[in-house]
Amino acid sequence: MPAHIIDGKHLAAKIKNEIAEAIKKKKGRPCGLATVLVGKNAASAIYVASKRKAASEIGMKSISHELPAETSESELLSLIAHLNEDRSVDGILVQLPLPQHIRESRIIEAILPSKDVDGFHPLNLGYLLSGHPKMVACTPRGIMYLIDSVGYNCEGKLAVVVGASNIVGKPMALLLLQRNATVIICHRKTKDLAHLTRQADILVVAVGSPKLITKDHVKDQAFVVDVGINRDKDNKICGDVDFKEVARVASYITPVPGGVGPLTIAMLLKNTWQNYEEKES
Ligand code: NAD
Repeated sequence: MPAHIIDGKHLAAKIKNEIAEAIKKKKGRPCGLATVLVGKNAASAIYVASKRKAASEIGMKSISHELPAETSESELLSLIAHLNEDRSVDGILVQLPLPQHIRESRIIEAILPSKDVDGFHPLNLGYLLSGHPKMVACTPRGIMYLIDSVGYNCEGKLAVVVGASNIVGKPMALLLLQRNATVIICHRKTKDLAHLTRQADILVVAVGSPKLITKDHVKDQAFVVDVGINRDKDNKICGDVDFKEVARVASYITPVPGGVGPLTIAMLLKNTWQNYEEKES
């Protein structure tokens, strides 16, 4: 039987509607999301624009900062200090990657952990590691939401996460561990990737390599989550998973586009709203 395709757009719309309803009911100051874009990276500009649009659509105040590529690290740090102080700002998102002369770690560490709606600050990663998550990175949080949306129980399952970045792979592995899955993390130096992925009940792939995962990497009836965003030979957007092939063997699969991506944005709004509610209640 072909896999059940999880509709990330539909799930994201549901989350956004819920927040929009809550915003309508709330009296007082608006909930504010500040986004910062440095330079003219085309992909980053598209990602930031969709985050700003999503925030405005649900009634959040979207505070946009567009800085030239020559902005210095100290100028960016000053802006962050200002946003940290600003009581009308509930969440700060600095779009990555930053120009090479700016150290991303310095910038991430400068954001107040309570306004770090991307969940990248070391303190927030530490809370997650210790099993008491506060602000969780949006993509892994969105993936847990989509796994939960079909009532899938992770307990005791073997989960393989391919990709070990701080923004997706590592927090993803920790969230699965929290749900009592047994977790293996793979990366570019992993030997015999297919041998490991073939054992996975849950396979999350966040690599950035078009169609790396074929049906030979996937166990029958596995739950497959594709995080990758790539362009194929025909310049069409595709994931890290060969969707057509793998959908024949998996039990659940997320498409690209329309799977994890919309949930990442929805979770950014959810993190921001959560922060607002904590402050205002
Ligand atoms: P990254 O480049 O920071 O990390 C990639 C990871 O994959 C590394 O750990 C690397 O060791 C591993 N890797 C690379 N080649 C490999 C291989 N052949 N076999 C096994 N492991 C390999 O990337 P990232 O920021 O985690 O993003 C990964 C992908 O997910 C990208 O395509 C990115 O665009 C996409 N992404 C999508 C969303 C979304 O919302 N859908 C969000 C974040 C990232």
